[in-house]
Amino acid sequence: MIWNPQYETMPRPQLEKLQLERLQALVARVYEKVPFYRQALQERDLTPESIKSLADLSRLPFTVKQDFRDNYPLGLVAVPMDQVCRVHASSGTTGKPVVAPYTANDLRMWTEVMARSLTCAGMGKDDVMQNAYGYGLFTGGLGFHYGGERVGATVIPTSTGNTKRQLMLLQDLGTTVITCTPSYSLILAEAALEMGVDLRLSKLRLGIMGAEPWSEQMRAEIEAKLPIQAIDIYGLTEVVGPGVSVECPHKCGMHIFEDHFLPEIVDPATGEPLPYGQVGELVITTLTKEALPVIRFRTRDIASLNPEPCECGRTLVRMSRIAGRTDDMLIIRGVNVFPSQIESVLLEVEGVEPHYLIIVDRERHLDDLEIWVEVSEAVFSDEMRKMEALQQKVKQEMEGTLGIGARIKLVEPRSLARTEGKAKRVVDRREL
Ligand code: AMP
Ligand code: ZN
Repeated sequence: MIWNPQYETMPRPQLEKLQLERLQALVARVYEKVPFYRQALQERDLTPESIKSLADLSRLPFTVKQDFRDNYPLGLVAVPMDQVCRVHASSGTTGKPVVAPYTANDLRMWTEVMARSLTCAGMGKDDVMQNAYGYGLFTGGLGFHYGGERVGATVIPTSTGNTKRQLMLLQDLGTTVITCTPSYSLILAEAALEMGVDLRLSKLRLGIMGAEPWSEQMRAEIEAKLPIQAIDIYGLTEVVGPGVSVECPHKCGMHIFEDHFLPEIVDPATGEPLPYGQVGELVITTLTKEALPVIRFRTRDIASLNPEPCECGRTLVRMSRIAGRTDDMLIIRGVNVFPSQIESVLLEVEGVEPHYLIIVDRERHLDDLEIWVEVSEAVFSDEMRKMEALQQKVKQEMEGTLGIGARIKLVEPRSLARTEGKAKRVVDRREL
């Protein structure tokens, strides 16, 4: 089934014509409404009239995560606040989140691309969709929620956590589709085993999973442990949230909804556009967003693009699975965490040194974050009670900034290895 055949199977020449028209209108809009973009365009001697073909896209400046930080909270917004009807947010490179506002049209567009995504993944109106993505500032919960309702499915907004209750509802309400992160699906499988629940006897048949990196091997494991087809879905807050791209049942790459999101692959080092098929950094321009349009956003996600027609009938380009990132962002239990955030917390707490090691592991499918940090000489020789108080303080500050729990281990002064070159701050033991 194809939710919107007009756009999803549009012949590519016609799609490209539409993209060009939308790109021209977008550049005119941000030039007029967003000082940040006007300045960036002027610096390159560009005006909206400079965009004569899609090839001119590569003349436009990039937007990076840092630009969101510099313009925090709402400096990149292109509409007056009274037109903003919802705001989401996701962790940025520092303590400040990336704030993502939506107009009514933006929410309609998002719901549309989510309806397309869920349909593309194989869901329909007769399905019962249990949505175990987090509801709240994170785009996952509400993004899937409205998409599911639009498709006409029965939506169960369980949100994250409470695995026993998830399993109970899954059986009692006849859930057919689970939407959650790939790692959470394995937690569900394991809990079911422990509780003696045989999910093969349930109606579950499909999982629509994303928000974090995963591999083909992990898909195989999920499909072996749960009676589902596991479908990959991709998105990010700066662009819209989930619904940028999704696999069809052929599982041969994620179709990007190119009438709304214009993709490019660039060389991460030089920024030069790379041809189809080559692996590089995914860059996205939003063609229709009103509140937060973005021009050439550097996602830092590594992928390649394939424009060959797909057996499903969609003409939309397919992006490969995300093969990694160009920065050091970690995704821990679905939350973006930058080592720089951890460092900034440590720098503010008296008694600890900015010598630390971040250890990420996956304990029984759940990401685990442990931070080792050296205490100062003075504190170390002090009483136990003070050390404990310090540990609590670091823990609280850390959780306040990161938004997720972390175990803090205080270690002796100078006990962490020093390196001459780039410090090794992160040990990621998770095997995807
Ligand atoms: P957020 O804005 O917090 O939703 O995080 C977006 C980031 O999550 C993306 O830039 C990717 O790094 C990651 N992500 C989302 N979906 C996927 C996916 N299907 N595979 C791999 N990484 C993903
Ligand atoms: Zn397809």
